[in-house]
Amino acid sequence: MRPLPESMAVSPFHAVGVYAEGEPGLSGPDGAIAVNIEIEGDTTWLVPQEPMPFGAEVVLTVDGRATDQRFATADLAARRLGTTADVAADADAVRVARDSEGYAVPSMAEGEGMREVVARVLAGDWDVDAPLAELGYRWDAAEDDGRWRLVLREPAGTLGRGSFVFAFDASRALVVQAPHPEYDASTGDQAVDAFLALDAAALFLAGSHRCANAESSPCDGTTSACGTTEAFRISDAAHAEGSVFQVVHEGVADAWPASVAVQLHGFGWDGTEPMAYASDGTDDDDPSSVSRVLRDALEAELGVDVASCNDASESSRLCGTTNTQGRYSNASGDVCGSAASAASGRFVHLEQARGLREESREAVLRGLAVLDAPPPPLR
Ligand SMILES: [Zn+2]
Repeated sequence: MRPLPESMAVSPFHAVGVYAEGEPGLSGPDGAIAVNIEIEGDTTWLVPQEPMPFGAEVVLTVDGRATDQRFATADLAARRLGTTADVAADADAVRVARDSEGYAVPSMAEGEGMREVVARVLAGDWDVDAPLAELGYRWDAAEDDGRWRLVLREPAGTLGRGSFVFAFDASRALVVQAPHPEYDASTGDQAVDAFLALDAAALFLAGSHRCANAESSPCDGTTSACGTTEAFRISDAAHAEGSVFQVVHEGVADAWPASVAVQLHGFGWDGTEPMAYASDGTDDDDPSSVSRVLRDALEAELGVDVASCNDASESSRLCGTTNTQGRYSNASGDVCGSAASAASGRFVHLEQARGLREESREAVLRGLAVLDAPPPPLR
């Protein structure tokens, strides 16, 4: 075997590129991921033969013997922000405020730029610093009990476009979303708890208050959330086409075709109605709807009345049928202007009275555990 160079880079790509020189003699202890050597000009790459776990440190062994050469898929320690809860607290601290006009609506090019970055990241390519910087973003790492997560965020938080956390080693491809962390009190914290407790694969936190900007979203629907009944605002992450929140949602839904998005909301309970409304993003009556499964689990855990928007025998409201993430997951061809014609089972919308988001949060988490999805494809 030819001598190994002093330093080598570990490619995060899975089996990409030309194998200029295969060295099947490289092997490691049981469970190790075999690598091939690839030489491109002056750079020697170790190319894993299967996807590398995010944050893995590679100890190179040659003919079964460990060498003193160690490589990491990325320098996560240098990018470590803290725990996922720390990341969320940072996001809370810089969220664009109500009536501030501080939300910067992304251009079409920015939206497409983010779409491309998300596709690369979810394919295991973390060499995206340059395109992220052009979008005012960077990627960092969060660590919870030794498990690493990739964080896409705006370091200064000034554009209000949101923070996104990915756990590639999650046991289920649930995508927990808080589009209204400010207005729907406590749903941001609740989403962090759900992301961790459910061992979910992604966490989305909106970067702006839904009423940050006065401009209307052109998308369907009205709300009185920002005062009088009016169109949704352009700063409402759940009701705007082309937002970073929407683009990242679409990218994840496409890259992880079996993923399920779970969106947490809150409403002002009138004291007599159901304490939560679960929806699959449509208001169709459907005995097999995921929202009925969730309703049953929540009622069992909470001992309170929960309604499903997909059970015609119950009165329901707040069904999220104009929600642009839900419409995408339910295969609407026009998320802004057309309701989905049927539910895919890949979107769950939960409206909750305040007590469920706060005092009864643990019981809600136990109910949410009924939601299932296979692991994300790249572990
Ligand atoms: Zn909401």
